[in-house]
Amino acid sequence: MESSHRKKKIWIKSIQGWSWLITVVWMTIANIWKPFGLFGLACMFTPIAIALSGRGKMHCARVCPRGSFIGLFAGKISLGLKKPAVMNSRWFRWLLWSMMMGTFAVLIVWAVPKGVYTLGNAILIFMEIATGLALLVGMIFKPRTWCTVCPMGFTTGNLRSLLEKRVKH
Ligand code: SF4
Repeated sequence: MESSHRKKKIWIKSIQGWSWLITVVWMTIANIWKPFGLFGLACMFTPIAIALSGRGKMHCARVCPRGSFIGLFAGKISLGLKKPAVMNSRWFRWLLWSMMMGTFAVLIVWAVPKGVYTLGNAILIFMEIATGLALLVGMIFKPRTWCTVCPMGFTTGNLRSLLEKRVKH
């Protein structure tokens, strides 16, 4: 019953062959015109909206511009080392999630009163650091190793589990 419920949800075809362009174009424009950085919020809310629609991690598997970006660019120069076991542990994912979400929340609270220029710039810098980190991890380990600990992927995975539990009850 639950699986048929999930099957009804339509997944789009993957756009990850080119969605890295969204990251590059957004970062380029936002660096020139800071308020454009506000569109970075779509990067956070789109995966959540998709997960809440019952499509689980469709964003990670089919859409994510950052996943596409690191897959393409880290893939060209990755050392391909085995990732540390700690990256598979839930406590590590929660720790990283708390640190990154906490930092983002503080940044937003600090930037909102200062206006769209500062807010857009704050979001841009946060996203650039996150993307840089993801790229670095991908260069050391396998290209998309970041995805095993990524706070957004972790959030959508948890939302999927919650929704599945709700359907079962
Ligand atoms: S885990 Fe994160 S970086 Fe990877 S595809 Fe999902 S949202 Fe994108």
